[in-house]
Amino acid sequence: MKQIKSIAILGAGESGTGAALLANWLGYAVFVSDKNAIKPEFQAELEAAGIEFESGEHTIEQILKADTIIKSPGIPEKAPVMQAIRAKGIPVLGEIEFAWQHRPRASKVVAITGSNGKTTTTGLTHHLLETAGLPAVVGGNIGHAFARLVLLDLQNPAPERIYVVEVSSFQLEDILQFRPEIGVLLNITPDHLDRYDYKLENYARAKFQITINQRQSDIFIYNGDDPEILKFMPEQVNAGKKIALKAADYKNGVLHIGQELQFNMASTKLRGPHNHFNALCAVHAALVLGADPAKIQAGLESFNPPAHRMEVVATVNGVTWINDSKATNVDAVFYALKAMDQPTVWIVGGQDKGNDYTPLQALVQQKVKAIVCMGLDNQPILTAFKDAGKAIVETRSAVEAVQTSNRLAAQGETVLLSPACASFDLFKNYEDRGDQFRQAVLSLTVNIPIT
Ligand code: ADP
Repeated sequence: MKQIKSIAILGAGESGTGAALLANWLGYAVFVSDKNAIKPEFQAELEAAGIEFESGEHTIEQILKADTIIKSPGIPEKAPVMQAIRAKGIPVLGEIEFAWQHRPRASKVVAITGSNGKTTTTGLTHHLLETAGLPAVVGGNIGHAFARLVLLDLQNPAPERIYVVEVSSFQLEDILQFRPEIGVLLNITPDHLDRYDYKLENYARAKFQITINQRQSDIFIYNGDDPEILKFMPEQVNAGKKIALKAADYKNGVLHIGQELQFNMASTKLRGPHNHFNALCAVHAALVLGADPAKIQAGLESFNPPAHRMEVVATVNGVTWINDSKATNVDAVFYALKAMDQPTVWIVGGQDKGNDYTPLQALVQQKVKAIVCMGLDNQPILTAFKDAGKAIVETRSAVEAVQTSNRLAAQGETVLLSPACASFDLFKNYEDRGDQFRQAVLSLTVNIPIT
């Protein structure tokens, strides 16, 4: 096999920069090229490592000189630079693959994917392992790139490391041999379909790459109630062990592992059956890796879910305010509404991605007291719920939405921000939307923050 000597890296976000630093440390000649402006902090890192880069353009001739290309997950196949690379037949791999190929051999990888719940499950799995005293680190699609984590462990050897990595469908598109010891597939619902020729099947196949290379000693944990996942299971003929988790395994706030082991969710901050499912996946992974059950229960109880995902912001005059700003698709809202056990004022809307709200209609009947639209163009929501028989109010800022909801909600009720839409019409991103919501809630007259 020809020895790879030079690598061109397309895209210099966290994953491209991580890959560049690792490749450079391994001794490759590295050239980084980003069509957009590279963030100053990444430029500084590349400069400090003496890595050649270009920002704001792709010099195709230089890129085509490389023996191998590492492509950032954001770059689609149809981008002209990719077409030129494919035409020349240069091997392309993703940062996840590259990091995996260079990981310490005694390490283990837990990789988590799905349409919803990745960040929560990844964070929780890491927390459970850490609480149990195991040498886990977390990254991938969140926080540090996998390549950066591997680099740190090559520089300061940590051979027994457990990498807990969130991986997106985009990242999984560019794997070759990537083979996590534990792969988790949470769910498959329509999202990012523009990248997949509007075919759910293509998106599903990308997600299934997580298990494609698994062998006998590996484990694939998946949602045994998800119809899209079940459709593709017969094709998964690799030798890995497959564990299907079903609703009966996490009912009534108790997680069941086989006949003997149980974990109680009552004193945790993870709300709703969807989060209990996420927790069950994390617990399975932690048990396989040797975590002690008592420590796992302690970890479930001490875990603080990441912000903007069913985050209880405060109780103000008996009204509970929940920030689920990260719910940018209908499925996430479905589970948020399902988790509501009090009449709910639902704040929804933003940049609509052509949503079909039909799956929410029955839950809206059951759980929702009033609908507060929060978007520049509220028409899709108004149209979808005009016959729901609920009060619908239009607002155009977080402050206005919170003040309106405050008037609509009575003691003992809940206000839920779970928008089903992207945030870019009124906000910088979903974090900004959630932060503005939280701020507006906390500035209501009397507030008792939940500790
Ligand atoms: P991701 O990283 O996949 O976007 P997050 O953990 O950030 O997932 O959660 C995104 C949104 O999905 C939040 O609104 C959250 O409440 C919701 N969610 C979390 N877990 C699940 C699940 N298993 N099924 C459906 N929705 C979920």
